[in-house]
Amino acid sequence: MNVINSDEGVVLIENNDVPSEAKLPTEYGDFLIRVFHEESTGLDHVALTLGDMQGPDPVLIRVHSECLTGDAFGSRRCDCGPQLQAALRAISDRGWGCLLYLRQEGRGIGLHAKIQAYHLQDKGADTLDANLMLGLPADDRDYSIASCMLSALDIQEVSLLTNNPNKVEQLRTHQINVVETVPLIVGVGEHNRDYLQTKGQRMGHNINPSDL
Ligand SMILES: [Zn+2]
Repeated sequence: MNVINSDEGVVLIENNDVPSEAKLPTEYGDFLIRVFHEESTGLDHVALTLGDMQGPDPVLIRVHSECLTGDAFGSRRCDCGPQLQAALRAISDRGWGCLLYLRQEGRGIGLHAKIQAYHLQDKGADTLDANLMLGLPADDRDYSIASCMLSALDIQEVSLLTNNPNKVEQLRTHQINVVETVPLIVGVGEHNRDYLQTKGQRMGHNINPSDL
């Protein structure tokens, strides 16, 4: 048993008897999938890696939070599905990199509350106000898990695929060395343009109105 502790008390577990790591050929390339079990929540987080994770260059990384509706169902209410696909394609194009898939559905509020928030949005609220109306934070994601996983993968320097400066700040507070960011604006359409506008105007994301 390999137990990884973060400074913030997150405990991730890997089994050494039968390692939770296997080949995962995909349409984007031949990845390795490695699964980390989070003790307190019972959730299984995923690292998909392509190639060797040793430097000297920073490793191209996407830290992607689970979005069942976007990732699996192709929902157009958000840009998660296209971002996930574009990140895997970018890693494949570079020939090496890593995607962390964190089980933090709905920016950390869970699927049930996310759909409640969608209900409020159907009645006119925006993505931020809907969360606040439910008494939930706008963003409840915790990146200490990502920090644990990157150190287990021996990744020192990160080139991060993101439009979210707040994510960069949070990763840095967890001792992740983000040396550059790579923008990821994809999948813009009529159903998510307002959502992306709110992220740009009210939630600090680097999204130019001209990109929408
Ligand atoms: Zn989504």
